[in-house]
Amino acid sequence: MTTPALWIASNNPKKRAELERILAPLGITLRTPDQLKAPFDPVEDQPDFAGNARIKASTLAKLAGGVALGDDSGLCVDALGGRPGVLSARYGGPGLDDRGRMLRLLDSLRNVPGPARTAHFTCSICVCGPGGRVLAAIEERCEGTLLTAPAGEGGFGYDPIFVPREFGGDPTRTFGALDAATKDRLSHRGKALRALASRLPALLR
Ligand code: IMP
Repeated sequence: MTTPALWIASNNPKKRAELERILAPLGITLRTPDQLKAPFDPVEDQPDFAGNARIKASTLAKLAGGVALGDDSGLCVDALGGRPGVLSARYGGPGLDDRGRMLRLLDSLRNVPGPARTAHFTCSICVCGPGGRVLAAIEERCEGTLLTAPAGEGGFGYDPIFVPREFGGDPTRTFGALDAATKDRLSHRGKALRALASRLPALLR
């Protein structure tokens, strides 16, 4: 008997690639919103990551009639009182791409000295069943610091300016400069998905 598919509730191709990469060892068939006829365009209007992850997962689960996994994530900067947080994908307003948002954030932090440039990524994951009911939810963080200039071409979003705490501010060890396996080992997303991994096959039955 084949295991039913898990729908990945994200329209962000780079985030989706990361989710698919971390879930790959589980051998689960993954499906994405572009395989549906109906558009997947959830309104992320909740004040926290968990609420938005739930909206994404339940919207896609109902549309697809299957089990769906939503990821809502973002960068919380201490010197900005936790912003951009849930608004990370929209920081600086419309018209900016990932790099533009990252440069805008660096500009907002231009007067913040090294020791105060602490931040964390949060990843909230929610899994919903076909009717939209929450089957599992988890949230994890990755603490670190922000550089004053980008380094590294890998990853996505704010990766080139974020150095995980394990590397003590070493400017050559941003998420953007690390290999994928090292990012996944330390990242908010890697931690959250690994915590869920043992439960996923049973949720798909
Ligand atoms: P979401 O798709 O609404 O959850 O937006 C997530 C946004 O947070 C992304 O567009 C990035 O700007 C940022 N973000 C989340 N996770 C990461 C990561 O692992 N690296 C870099 N940026 C991230």
